[in-house]
Amino acid sequence: MVDLRSDTISMPTREMLETILEAKLGDDGRTDSKGRGEDLAVNELEDLAAEMTGKEAAVLFPSGTQGNTSAILAYCRPGQKVMVDEMQHIYLSEKVVFDPSIGQLEPVTYKLDQDNLPDLDDMRRILESQEIALLCIENTHNFSGGTCVPLERMKAIHELAKEFGVPVHMDGARMFNAVVALGVEAREMCKYVDSVMFCISKGLGAPIGSLVCCSEAFSMKIRDKRKLLGGAMRQAGVIAAPGMYALTHNIERLAEDNANAAYAAEQLKDLKNTKVYGKVMSNIIVLDANGLGLTPGEYCGKAAEKGLLIKPVLKDKVRLVFYRDISREDTEKAVAIIRELDSLR
Ligand SMILES: *Cc1c(COP(=O)(O)O)cnc(C)c1O
Repeated sequence: MVDLRSDTISMPTREMLETILEAKLGDDGRTDSKGRGEDLAVNELEDLAAEMTGKEAAVLFPSGTQGNTSAILAYCRPGQKVMVDEMQHIYLSEKVVFDPSIGQLEPVTYKLDQDNLPDLDDMRRILESQEIALLCIENTHNFSGGTCVPLERMKAIHELAKEFGVPVHMDGARMFNAVVALGVEAREMCKYVDSVMFCISKGLGAPIGSLVCCSEAFSMKIRDKRKLLGGAMRQAGVIAAPGMYALTHNIERLAEDNANAAYAAEQLKDLKNTKVYGKVMSNIIVLDANGLGLTPGEYCGKAAEKGLLIKPVLKDKVRLVFYRDISREDTEKAVAIIRELDSLR
């Protein structure tokens, strides 16, 4: 089986897991006046994450959803409007901040342009006509097929938001795939946002965890929201130590995953009934296989029969995600199966 359902399937290596045995654990829930706990492994990871993103502080979360939720709730009061793009993970998948029983925020969606990048004109139109509390972007952009938002666009979004006094939060679950693909430093990219969430549990290969990086003052607010949501943990160094390993060993190798995705996309570009959606820039391929007359669920079922596990996304598409455990040989197998399925009709 070649399993391309998600990079969250990436398994921690023995070397990574062994870091847990040496981790200087403590109770991360017992905090000092700066909100820092007693688990030294957590503090070490938060310090590195802050340094890498050029922010004053970082906060460890059990999940990316909880990180995004805590950050967004810390910016807003119930009833306020938050800008998200029409295919954004926070809006279509997580939904917590917009849930009438939890976040109670109102989504205002902006368009993506023909390159699947945030449309500046549409953003401006919204900012001019409505009272907006927060603007959210996603980089890499998951449901559009791992689109990387380049620095020029990030800068333009930042300037636009500043003009209207609106803070910017970036869902950077796969930010390091973008950093590697664009050949930039994470801190250069994060200059243009007030806060950023990234996952260590995806392509970076750690078993659990996400970080939100921001100013020191804002980190205190985020810590309060994390506690409210039940995310204050105890000996969380068992999460932080593999995370530390991930940030120090696994960033550059994301280029291999990006390259496998690019290779597969190239091999699939001339198919009759199966179309690669958008431009493949990182480790995700979104496919439109509607030409085969199958629902995405049926298509994934047929792929599974042939030895390829993939997942429906966005009602009418399927997604392939490349990660450390997927070799070039696996990539070739996946390509062969998709080509075979394409010739069914
Ligand atoms: C995976 C993901 C998240 C959330 O991560 P979890 O740890 O699964 O909660 C947020 N945004 C994007 C774009 C993601 O792909």
